[in-house]
Amino acid sequence: MNMQLLESILTAYGATSREGCVRGVIAAALEGHVDSMTTDVMGNLIAVKKGSGEGKRIMLSSHMDHIGLMVMDAQENGYLRVCNVGGIRPANMIAEHVAFENGAKGVVGADEGVKDGLEIRHLYIDVGAESREEALAIAPIGEIAVMAPRMAKLGAHRLASPAMDDRIACFIQAQVMLDLPKEIQNDVVAVFSVQEEVGLRGAAAAAFSMQPDMGIALDVTGVGDVPGHEQHVPMALGKGAAVKIMDRSLICTPSVVSLLLDTAKEKEIPVQREVLPYGGTDAGAIQKTGCGVPSGVISIPCRYIHSAAETVDLRDVQAAHDLLLAVVGK
Ligand SMILES: [Zn+2]
Repeated sequence: MNMQLLESILTAYGATSREGCVRGVIAAALEGHVDSMTTDVMGNLIAVKKGSGEGKRIMLSSHMDHIGLMVMDAQENGYLRVCNVGGIRPANMIAEHVAFENGAKGVVGADEGVKDGLEIRHLYIDVGAESREEALAIAPIGEIAVMAPRMAKLGAHRLASPAMDDRIACFIQAQVMLDLPKEIQNDVVAVFSVQEEVGLRGAAAAAFSMQPDMGIALDVTGVGDVPGHEQHVPMALGKGAAVKIMDRSLICTPSVVSLLLDTAKEKEIPVQREVLPYGGTDAGAIQKTGCGVPSGVISIPCRYIHSAAETVDLRDVQAAHDLLLAVVGK
């Protein structure tokens, strides 16, 4: 596993709608290894590997964007007030270090006395300013802070990072593009999408323009292997890649689910079946495009999603890579 590429993808700044740095890292890694690479109007990076014409046109999608806090205003005493971009859980933000696209740093606090019923409007960012003017000079209205990019190895197999959702999938998808055999039948269209966290916006536009025969999204999924978990979801770290059956954005096309499960069985790749009673992925947008596109998802089980501690198991990452390569690389 190319840990250097993984770290550079995980630690690039890339708030929702500000995915340029991530796009640059991925484009540099793929340059010269694909048949074409373009950035569309939305900002999606689309890398294509042409097949012989005997296969399918398969669109892959993993999202580059990361949830954040957008500056709305600043108080006279220099605290920035914010709104969320994507599914921020306020409790996960308290005492977090955050970073802006321009390199400015801050820490997040919450109004005193609101521990119960904490909402985004109670959060503020302290950028070290002593006045409203100073604060807005550091981080103007409309700028977006993300949980400060970093990566930590946990134990023998696990990795934690604030941007695991969904950069781990960007890494897998980029690696699969690099590992595809020279001669294949399928056209493989790898979309590194934008604005997934605010409603699958980038993937919708990309699917419309690419008109694939099949769509496969890669994203993290929730797990039930943490203390006190009450959702009864069966997924766990270290048990393999997850093949999604359903989440809130789609019920995966049965033929695609079967293709993924059958390929995993044939290649002896560890997989787990996934039903997630919440969340969504780019596949939800791809499936509804045009006259409909058969769509499925390969998921990477992840603990503490939408926190600074998003944690995955590298054996599951390897399994997701191997499964995707086996499915598209023929
Ligand atoms: Zn995601």
